[in-house]
Amino acid sequence: MSDVTARAAAGFSSAFGAEPAGLWAAPGRVNLIGEHTDYNDGFVLPFALPHRTVVAAAPLPSPRWRVWSEQSDETIEFDAAQADQPGKIDGWAGYVAGVVWALRSAGHDVPGASLAVASDVPAGAGLSSSAALESAVLTALADLGGLAVPVAERPELAQRAENDYVGMPCGIMDQSASIRAEAGHALFLDCRTLEIEQIPFDVASSGLAVLVVDTRAPHRHAGGEYASRRRACEEAAALLGVPALRDVEDLDAALAALPDEVMRRRVRHVVTEDQRVLDTVELLRAGRVREIGPLLTASHASMRDDFEITVPEVDLAVSTALAAGAYGARMTGGGFGGCVLALVDADALDAVAAAVAAGYAERAFTAPVWFAARPGAGAERVG
Ligand code: ADP
Ligand code: MG
Repeated sequence: MSDVTARAAAGFSSAFGAEPAGLWAAPGRVNLIGEHTDYNDGFVLPFALPHRTVVAAAPLPSPRWRVWSEQSDETIEFDAAQADQPGKIDGWAGYVAGVVWALRSAGHDVPGASLAVASDVPAGAGLSSSAALESAVLTALADLGGLAVPVAERPELAQRAENDYVGMPCGIMDQSASIRAEAGHALFLDCRTLEIEQIPFDVASSGLAVLVVDTRAPHRHAGGEYASRRRACEEAAALLGVPALRDVEDLDAALAALPDEVMRRRVRHVVTEDQRVLDTVELLRAGRVREIGPLLTASHASMRDDFEITVPEVDLAVSTALAAGAYGARMTGGGFGGCVLALVDADALDAVAAAVAAGYAERAFTAPVWFAARPGAGAERVG
């Protein structure tokens, strides 16, 4: 039993004085490439982390829910009336109530349950601990209640929990990765059709590794900036007369048709980023893993210069990793802090990470945290 699974089981026993009926896990994710493309109906290519959120659960005889999390060491209770009112349960338990709400709204008879949560997905670092929590809870409740919820429909339900119950307008990527990822693969997701394709991404057999650096940069205005980027994209699509920026076919013509320089840069990011995802997928299908490096770096430049969602800590991690020999590096996640990933030779991993840490020390930035990310499995029962 992994540490985090054992902690969820032990937490269940101490919070509820009983044994769980089962244990369910769902991973955090990093996005290899395709940033701010999901809500533009475009393409993304995330993969699941080995870091997981585990839920230990057992049914209750009536429709009410008791949730404990190691993170806050408190138990929150809510009933069906509270679950049926979006926003009624706030704070971290809102993500759990949101899943109950989304399932009930879709007509499922969600079983009452006691749930204990433990996680080694860092919260708020852009590795999608929120989707990991939603996905683990959703998988647990679906199994406990024997609910007929096809796996293909689960990401949208988890997304609705976050969008409509918690009130965070995230796209479909995070929940898709947490639920549908497969070990050793990246998940190529068409955010319009929700079609997926598992793309082999076996970095280790190519002698490579993906270094993930959690910059620990404080999130600055992330919510408001996300909303404003989203709005700019929607306005641009409306001006261009297309349903979404994914539909822009001639970038130069589109740029010429837009009245505003900032809007032109936002559009250029989204349109070129979609193409970089497609190009990355082509290279990975051909087993040319190392060659995706320049696409990662170009993605970063586009986020920095055109979409303007990076911060100095993030830019420094990217430039330092590249100077230390990375094949490519980029910020991953919504921006304004969060994580950077770098594609490196496996035996250069420590040296690149050390170079980034040294660069941070020199600038008196908070010391970064880093790990090597291998593509892990999606949500599943683990005990
Ligand atoms: P990210 O998804 O990038 O980690 P978010 O702000 O979207 O950041 O989600 C983080 C929030 O999700 C936390 O503040 C907390 O409310 C909730 N959360 C995530 N994991 C847990 C957990 N294991 N226990 C309790 N709450 C959690
Ligand atoms: Mg999140």
